[in-house]
Amino acid sequence: MRRTSAPVRPGLAVAVAAAVVLAGCLPSRDDDGFHPGAADIGDPYVPGAGNGGYDVDNYRLAVDYDPPGDRLSGRAVVTATATEPLSRFNLDLVGLDVTAVTVDDARAEHHRDGDELVVTPERGLARGSRFTVEVTYAGVPTARPDGQLGSGGFLHTEDGAIALGQPYSAATWFPVNDHPSDKATYEIEVTVPDGLEALSNGVPGGRTSAGGRTTWRWAERTPMASYLSTLVIGDYRVTTGTHAGKPIVTAVPERLAATGPEASSLARTAEIADFLAGRFGPYPFESYGGIAVTDPRVGYALETQSRPVYGPGFFRSGQPNLGVVTHELAHQWFGNSVAVARWRDIWLNEGFATYAEWLWEEHDGGRTAQRNFELRYAMTDWSRPTLDPGRGQLFGSAVYTRGALAVHALRRTVGDDAFFTILRTWTAERRGGNATTDDLVALAERVSGKDLRPLFDAWLTGRTAPTLP
Ligand SMILES: [Zn+2]
Repeated sequence: MRRTSAPVRPGLAVAVAAAVVLAGCLPSRDDDGFHPGAADIGDPYVPGAGNGGYDVDNYRLAVDYDPPGDRLSGRAVVTATATEPLSRFNLDLVGLDVTAVTVDDARAEHHRDGDELVVTPERGLARGSRFTVEVTYAGVPTARPDGQLGSGGFLHTEDGAIALGQPYSAATWFPVNDHPSDKATYEIEVTVPDGLEALSNGVPGGRTSAGGRTTWRWAERTPMASYLSTLVIGDYRVTTGTHAGKPIVTAVPERLAATGPEASSLARTAEIADFLAGRFGPYPFESYGGIAVTDPRVGYALETQSRPVYGPGFFRSGQPNLGVVTHELAHQWFGNSVAVARWRDIWLNEGFATYAEWLWEEHDGGRTAQRNFELRYAMTDWSRPTLDPGRGQLFGSAVYTRGALAVHALRRTVGDDAFFTILRTWTAERRGGNATTDDLVALAERVSGKDLRPLFDAWLTGRTAPTLP
């Protein structure tokens, strides 16, 4: 994620809503040993988000969107494994009316509780059992103004829609366990009026038309955090090709020039991904791409998996912006393939993505990473922590710039060989999973043979300027 403007707004609305949810989420044991799954996954940065008691393996989504009426109807088949004996469980779903729920093909009782869909199957689900929930739903999807970055969620645009947002957005268009600690694979079918494009994550599948409507198919077969899912519908010029044996799909709004800064920046996607692969290890996904959008509410770029979405603010100068492309592509390793387990560790995403911008700048003949480090070090407010920055500073400069300073401090301390071995080992060992700051410290110590806890403490949470390594 990179913001173009707009200060971070504290998510007061979320905190209030969450307090209501939390009051009802303590599991109480039923007589038969089954109990309700928690309505909240327990991450204090996103109260109410995610759920307890199960782990999703796959989402199979079929959504139909009608832009003139701003109406979405969908069917979601969620395959999950119970991690506790469950009498009922929750999915996150914002707005939208649910008309039917089945669990393993049997009708299940369901009701809504705020942004929760509460499902009670006919019989309890044993710990370890794999089950399939099918939810049929429809309605006018909504934005999530509480997403901390201005508008996230499902945005109805002039020509279609854009769904994206961090730290959450998915629940505005499908029922989901909406927290990055529960990654899953996705199959996504999107049906829109003929003539519109419908883009999403992963590998493109076959496209079919019937009755004036076209169904676009996408598959993300590498585990994905829900906030990295996206849906972009509208008049787009789609460019499809192959890079390193994998599909590459980029899209730019038709109304923008084919030679404009958006198109020329996205055209560098494969080259920049290859540059990063040379530093970070093999590209972790089965497809490449990027989508430029013009809606001014998207005041940021987001690293939606395998196909980042770039807001209009990055291209206002009329020049290509390779920094933002580098940042979002770096997230494919740092943030997407290796995802946070809790949002307090978001610097693991943003510190490395910011550092990747420094690496690209040096490679591109600009400032060296060392020079960027020196300049930013001099400007840093050390009173703000990088690790566990607080909800209101999830996208603050301590996470981004101070995070990148910590990365370079590690490099200076262990040397280039050990540093790049640490990065490549991290992306290999943690590929497709989740990780914490402690995991990174342990790995860096293992590779370098040095006691690095004091270094990380000083650069991530120390209240005064650390000694330069
Ligand atoms: Zn970012």
